[in-house]
Amino acid sequence: MSPKVTDEVLYSKVMNNGNQKENYQKQLEEILAREQGKCPKLLLHTCCAPCSSYCLEYLLEHFDITVFYYNPNITEEAEYRHRAAEQQRLIEALGKDIGRTASFMEGAYEPQRFLEASRGLEKCPEGGERCEKCFRLRLSVAAEYAAQNGFDYYTTSLTISPLKNAPLLNTIGREMGERYGITFLPSDFKKKNGYKRSIELSQKYDLYRQDYCGCAFSKAEREEQKRKIEENHT
Ligand code: SF4
Repeated sequence: MSPKVTDEVLYSKVMNNGNQKENYQKQLEEILAREQGKCPKLLLHTCCAPCSSYCLEYLLEHFDITVFYYNPNITEEAEYRHRAAEQQRLIEALGKDIGRTASFMEGAYEPQRFLEASRGLEKCPEGGERCEKCFRLRLSVAAEYAAQNGFDYYTTSLTISPLKNAPLLNTIGREMGERYGITFLPSDFKKKNGYKRSIELSQKYDLYRQDYCGCAFSKAEREEQKRKIEENHT
């Protein structure tokens, strides 16, 4: 009998699977070719305007997109609201420029849910087990919303970040898709110079670019890193 796939088993399985790499960009391109001219409905979970910029520019040509801003991990409310406002400003500005626009849907702001999911993992460095819980929470809510509201696919802008584990995100995305009955669109948006393009678009639209991921723990980690750098230069 195969062992029960707990979060921990999944996490170590993905982390130890580095030699058997899947090409998520190629998988995405195959779907785009198959869906050409059909414009299916896509729920694009986004973490912030800068990360979503390239994803929107790239995908609006192929999909009818609703941006789903669900980020209970942003534990400071002012920061959460600022990123949400920037997300809406980008959708409007980019839409005007390229002649195709996305809709915007904000999920519930429930930081307590994130704090509960990450309990005991507060000291984990960014990229560790706490992030896996964070991905799991955000993608489960996105998948459920997409399934309940007639979308054809869902995906996330999170795979554009060089600091995020794309295989883990794709694995969780598929798992949540199976759970709720919605197809996860495979992605590794940093490919094809996606990350570089997101920086260019952030400059073009003068987007607010935070220097930490989102939770209070990642903010403290970044402040500690900056303090050490300053110490080494004095
Ligand atoms: S560092 Fe980022 S991905 Fe990781 S738990 Fe915090 S907000 Fe989530």
